[in-house]
Amino acid sequence: MIIFRLKKFSLLSKILKYLIFISFLLALDIEKYPIKNTLSFLNVEFKIVKNGTSPNRYIWLHGDEKTAEMALNNHIKNYQGIAFFIQNEEREIPYKSTIIDPNRLFSRDGAYHALKKFKPNWESKSLKDALDEIEIERENLLRSIMPLKNGILVSVHNNFRGYNIKSEIKNSQKVSIKDNQNPRDFILCTSEDDYIKLEKGPYNIVLQNKLPDEDDGSLSWALLKKNVRYINVETRLGYLTQQKKILSFIEKELN
Ligand SMILES: [Zn+2]
Repeated sequence: MIIFRLKKFSLLSKILKYLIFISFLLALDIEKYPIKNTLSFLNVEFKIVKNGTSPNRYIWLHGDEKTAEMALNNHIKNYQGIAFFIQNEEREIPYKSTIIDPNRLFSRDGAYHALKKFKPNWESKSLKDALDEIEIERENLLRSIMPLKNGILVSVHNNFRGYNIKSEIKNSQKVSIKDNQNPRDFILCTSEDDYIKLEKGPYNIVLQNKLPDEDDGSLSWALLKKNVRYINVETRLGYLTQQKKILSFIEKELN
């Protein structure tokens, strides 16, 4: 009996020593490789916020759309997934001697027009170099923000003036406009299955599951090309409660 207890004791102390050794190694490692919670894209960073293990991803792309940032901040506390927040104050991001819209860079054509918008007189070699660089950075960004299998990428946006659901009808395959909803608050999705579930709810919604003749470089077309579920939640700037409600509605209907 005593021998048995002694054996048991020495085994326990061995396990304890082993655990201390492992935690020491882990501590060393964490210091050497701090957990990355930002992601670089061209001249800006994205802050990364993780909650749990859901396959879903969320992104806030336009730095001046503060309501969308607040809505996503709140959402990622209540629902699982990984959220990416651009660290920028304006809609456009600085790039070389000009500025560019980060949501027009997801195709080469879109990036070309984005580069020319604020700086029309590019020399052809430097324009090509810029497009090549953007392409590499874009693919890196897409790899990082891509949802896992069966997951969705949700992006949040706000509008200021004229832009509303009617602006999207020409590029949409299905549209559902609700009488009691403001046309500037709407959902855009790229999966027909998602559309069928969401259109029954109280919110305006469009389905865009066919590529348009002119790909303007929006994130939605890039995800459609990759056959990944994408949802854009668009509301008027300042309508935080509305944006939070739409995000929760999507989460409850689709997950
Ligand atoms: Zn936006």
